[in-house]
Amino acid sequence: MKTVETFSFRGKRALIRVDYNVPLDESYVIQDDSRMTASLPTIQKILNDGGSVVLMSHLGRPKNGPESKFSLQHLVSHLKALTGANVVFSDDCISQDAINTSKNLKIGSIHLLENLRFYTEETDGDNGFTKTLSQHGDIYVNDAFGTAHRSHASTAVIANHFQDKCFGYLMTKEIQNASMLLKDPKRPFTAIVGGAKVSDKILIIQNLLNIADHIIIGGGMAYTFKCAQGGTIGGSLFEEERVETCREILEEANEKNVHIHLPQDSVIADHFDNKANTQNCQSDQIPEGWMGLDIGENAIIAFTKVLAQSKTILWNGPMGVFEMSSYENGTKSIAEAVAKATTNGAFSLIGGGDSSAAVKKFKYTNQVSYVSTGGGALLEYFEGKKLPGIVAIED
Ligand code: AMP
Repeated sequence: MKTVETFSFRGKRALIRVDYNVPLDESYVIQDDSRMTASLPTIQKILNDGGSVVLMSHLGRPKNGPESKFSLQHLVSHLKALTGANVVFSDDCISQDAINTSKNLKIGSIHLLENLRFYTEETDGDNGFTKTLSQHGDIYVNDAFGTAHRSHASTAVIANHFQDKCFGYLMTKEIQNASMLLKDPKRPFTAIVGGAKVSDKILIIQNLLNIADHIIIGGGMAYTFKCAQGGTIGGSLFEEERVETCREILEEANEKNVHIHLPQDSVIADHFDNKANTQNCQSDQIPEGWMGLDIGENAIIAFTKVLAQSKTILWNGPMGVFEMSSYENGTKSIAEAVAKATTNGAFSLIGGGDSSAAVKKFKYTNQVSYVSTGGGALLEYFEGKKLPGIVAIED
């Protein structure tokens, strides 16, 4: 695997695709800078080698060209503080001025380009656009795992214009951790899949049927499975058109000797609100007018038992509506069980925006093996797809 370690950047300009899609509040103050801090090792290695750095990223989803609320200018002062380097900003990413700034960039300096998605050519993967962009650097570095599943100009197509290209430290770490789970997991390997919809997670579950020993299913998606088994689920999340898929998954798991664990009981509520009336109930006997919003106490005990015996754990998606305190207990308890298993020697990989947010919220980040920065990218990786951002460098 070609990484930044493969090159000396002395006297070279590195054009790095980073994922600086950070959350900003109404006053453009950064709410969570972890995507920025995750890029620091790569930036520091290049600057320490005696090179200079040009950073490109997207921010949000601008629809009609430049919009100040999506400007990367809002990140400049924090980038200066994090790196201690001289940071220059260009209010465009492909203007001649911006390219000249890169060409004249002093060793040890950083040039931050304006939001790539101000141009539709970025998401279209336009070749002319990438050709112009490529003039910013001598070596292309991809360190944006969060967008590696996109075949965009800056994440994949641009690599065609470079002889010298490699992964940054973050990408390298993400790929190594994820590939370890796919290729050589210590067993038993347990995957926890949660979140709102079966339809979003079908492909990952189907692929996991070929690799995992246990699959724990929680969150809103569990109720379509319960229905497929003949249960009554009241007003819980339900995807009628997925009932047959759930049946097929359960059958295939049986044939492949993969143990699927569904929540035996649930915390149910009489409406979707933190202050709703709640009670504990069997997940397949939910009365009309009630909905399952978290896994119940017995489910927690059963899932914790499986996790305690696991040697490899992958977690994608929360067990309930963890954003509301009344329904956070399931997700919190599973985070605790994953942390305990990790202390006892298991390898645990947490991926997907919401599971990472949950682990952070309940303060278990330092007690699991790895929290991935990739939501969609990690999901697609475990669906067995080749990610364009990875293929572009490997080729
Ligand atoms: P996903 O993006 O598919 O991983 O889904 C995450 C979202 O699913 C979170 O916002 C949760 O609040 C929501 N969720 C989890 N469990 C339930 C449930 N039982 N009912 C409704 N929403 C849920």
